[in-house]
Amino acid sequence: MRVALVTVGDELLAGETVNTNAAWLGEQLTARGASVERSAAVPDRVADIARVVSEYRAEHDAVVVTGGLGPTHDDVTMAAVAAAFGRDLEESEEALAWLEAHGGYEREDLAEGTARLPAGARPLHNEVGVAPGCVIDGVYVLPGVPDEMKAMFESVRREFTGTRLSVATVDVDEPESALLDRFAELRERFDVTVGSYPGDHVRVRLRGEDEREVERAAAWLRERVDLVSE
Ligand code: ATP
Ligand code: MG
Repeated sequence: MRVALVTVGDELLAGETVNTNAAWLGEQLTARGASVERSAAVPDRVADIARVVSEYRAEHDAVVVTGGLGPTHDDVTMAAVAAAFGRDLEESEEALAWLEAHGGYEREDLAEGTARLPAGARPLHNEVGVAPGCVIDGVYVLPGVPDEMKAMFESVRREFTGTRLSVATVDVDEPESALLDRFAELRERFDVTVGSYPGDHVRVRLRGEDEREVERAAAWLRERVDLVSE
């Protein structure tokens, strides 16, 4: 399953908030075997959000959007998602009833617009905060607050599927440029993808659908490089 992420918020682009939602979702979705193919952070602007949601939806099986729910002036994600589908926003009776029954809120006390979702969307309940999320035609809209986002993701986690890749890591104590010939041979010999991540040393990640093939490739490489000593 091919998935794209959209994280909404001016503060993410300004670097005031570290985009932990994108990293966490990428990890969770990948662990389920879904393939995360795109990730965009966008400002709190209806047109920008709507455009990227439409574009990503056309090319992926699912899009996960976080941030910008709730009733404050800069929370425009629901309006943008509605616009992307050419729908209106409407008060979700189901979301309101859940907030009354489980959230301990009276309807009159909720801020105007709290339960407004794109027409026809399936509401997702917020076990931690207030603002509901929703699902509409493969687009999952979750809150920005990390704890709320994580709790809501649990309710839809099983809807993301795919073939889990096996991963093996080889930590190499050689410059990346010196490894090119061995990477080329590795890719010829084995049905794996090779990721090379330089830092203090070069971390090589081998990924593939067949666990034994990945292990064989890792063993082959370990015999032909200077390994980082423990
Ligand atoms: P609520 O439903 O509580 O109104 P919200 O969905 O409107 O929340 P935002 O207003 O966008 O969420 O952000 C709420 C908080 O969560 C802010 O402190 C924000 O910095 C943080 N946050 C938003 N997006 C992310 C993200 N991608 N990664 C980490 N933190 C985030
Ligand atoms: Mg916001």
